[in-house]
Order: sequence, then structure tokens, then C-alpha cells
Amino acid sequence: MFCDEALDSLEAIAGGELTADGRIAAHLASCANCAAALESARALETMLRGRPVPAAPAQFTIRTLGRVRRARWRSEQFLDAGFNVAIGVVVLAVIGGIWMLLNRSGLAAVSNDAVDLFGNGLVTFARRIAPSLPLYAGAAGLLATALGIWWWAERDVTL
Ligand SMILES: [Zn+2]
Repeated sequence: MFCDEALDSLEAIAGGELTADGRIAAHLASCANCAAALESARALETMLRGRPVPAAPAQFTIRTLGRVRRARWRSEQFLDAGFNVAIGVVVLAVIGGIWMLLNRSGLAAVSNDAVDLFGNGLVTFARRIAPSLPLYAGAAGLLATALGIWWWAERDVTL
């Protein structure tokens, strides 16, 4: 039996929630430190019991629950706003990424000139697309992020 084990149960013993059983009682009898700690815990308990307990104000429970509910509602509103901002940023980034894609890879020209594209064949198409593959990957990543945030929010709502 170590002191920390005895000290852990001192409050409960002093409060009368626990009676010192054999091992703890033996330790308290042999250890001056723990015995003194139990004495001061008992003194504190007695002092606290002697103090008048103030009565809760009228409608305390109802008002407290109301405040808790309002605080929770506010934090949910805050989360919603943050979620909307995040989605907005991601959507803007996706739009910007697509715009850059169209500008850089000449896809706009390709779609305007679709007949020409089919004439040149898939090899030409692949050659045109290849340099901007990282951009495609970036756009796909942004899209995945948006979907991920959306999934997270939906999951949060169902909880
Ligand atoms: Zn001890």
C-alpha cells in the first residue's frame, strides 16, 4: 500500500462515502502523513457541512437549461457559418482551377473546334492534355475536399 493509494480515497473516507477497510486503515494507522491528511480532509468536510447551503433561485433549472440551449444553438450557428465559408472558398477555388485549366490547356479552343479534335485523333488530344495533368489532379483534389467537407457536415447533422 502506497501513500498515493491511501490519499486517493481520503476524500471519500472523510465524506463518509467510504469506510476505511483493512489495508487503508492499517496504512492510516502506520503513516503519520496520511493520518494528518485524513484529519485535515475531515476538518474541511466538517467546516463545509457547517456552512449554510444557499437555496437555488427560483426556476434555476429552467433558466439554466435555457441558457445551455441558447449557447448550443449559437455554437451550431457558428459551425454552420464556418461550413458555408469553407464551402464557398472551395467552390471558388474549383471554379478558378477550371478557368485556369481552360485557359492553359486550350480546352476552350478544343471544345470550339471539336471537329478538328476528332480529326487529329486521340493522340493529339492526349498530347495537349498531358502538360496540364497536375492541374486536373489539383481540381480533382479540390472537388474531393468539397465532397469531404460536405460528407463531414452531413454526418455531423445526423448525429
Ligand atoms: Zn501514507
